[in-house]
Amino acid sequence: MPAEPSLINVARLKDEFLDLVSTASPSKREGAVARRLSSILSGMGAAVRGGRRGERVGGDTGNLLARFPGNVPGAAPFLLSAHMDTVGPAAAIHPLVEGDIVRTDRTSVLGGDDKAGIVAILEAIRVLRERNLPHGDIELVLTICEESGLYGAKHFDTSRLRSRRGLVLDVDGVCELITRAPAANHLSVTVHGLAAHAGICPEQGLSALQIAAEAIAGMKLGRVDDETTANIGVIQGGLASNIIPDRVVLRGETRSLSAGKLEAQTAHMRERFEAAVAGRAVRVGDRLHQARVEVEARRDYESLDVRDDAGIVRLVRSAAATLGRSCRTRSTGGASDANVLAGRGLEVANLACGMREIHTVNEWVDIKDVMVTAELVVETVRLHAAS
Ligand SMILES: [Zn+2]
Repeated sequence: MPAEPSLINVARLKDEFLDLVSTASPSKREGAVARRLSSILSGMGAAVRGGRRGERVGGDTGNLLARFPGNVPGAAPFLLSAHMDTVGPAAAIHPLVEGDIVRTDRTSVLGGDDKAGIVAILEAIRVLRERNLPHGDIELVLTICEESGLYGAKHFDTSRLRSRRGLVLDVDGVCELITRAPAANHLSVTVHGLAAHAGICPEQGLSALQIAAEAIAGMKLGRVDDETTANIGVIQGGLASNIIPDRVVLRGETRSLSAGKLEAQTAHMRERFEAAVAGRAVRVGDRLHQARVEVEARRDYESLDVRDDAGIVRLVRSAAATLGRSCRTRSTGGASDANVLAGRGLEVANLACGMREIHTVNEWVDIKDVMVTAELVVETVRLHAAS
């Protein structure tokens, strides 16, 4: 069956992409792009709510929630979501255009992560409405501070949503659906030793730094197994080269697609620290000083784990087939707002939206990929209304 001509207005999509990426929006500084998007969405006929104070996580704006009424009575609403912030460097962004390829002058990221997702969604909604294609209500959530820790999504009150199913658009590639992403635990560790002069009386000290080093040296880190990773990313402590450091603070994480492995790795990391301090003591005068450690592990976000026979996967696959394409599912080691939304009980997956070489100054986007993504969204929303 020959593919039908695309409904997507590629010139409009490209102009909007250039407009949005040129508006820099590093995490906590999404205000300018949020105002731009709010005005675009209002112009498209949406009821837009945004900038809620409680959702401002130290930045200059909050999440945006836009609602578009559907034209199929009784059809279930559908959620679409992307994030407004970008990683740095992103103080100023100068996109360079070569045909359909958009990149930067390599002084900054492009911010196609996640503005490729945003423009694919906007274009899809325009097409659905302009052509009066059958669709239920559409709820669009544009978040802040995804890159800095999924904070916008974490602070978003999902009880405001009527949708139970939807798509986050926030991953590199095209025509791929992320259905599995790990849960993560964040670890904060403080090792307490005892300060002493390093030259005069080192035997009266307990080096918190050395204890931490011993713990880390015996720790499984990096890719622990095919489902699990772990990292100690920050170590801070010490005052001077001639003082035995009495306190070191570390921050780390572990992620796994498996809940059991996540807890086992977290326990392993905790146990390495506890083993490293065990029995480390020094007597100064009549007082025995014992090294000790505080390990605080907390869940950072839940896993994304959508079965291949779930409704959202079947919808996207059917949409791709309608367009003469195939859409494979895959897992990733990275988290997205989809993890947070899934953790709140929504049936969501993360659709690739054309971004490439993300989180680098070599980031680029092929507008054709964003166009294909917009087509997939149009078809998915249309099929959802018919289901
Ligand atoms: Zn992203």
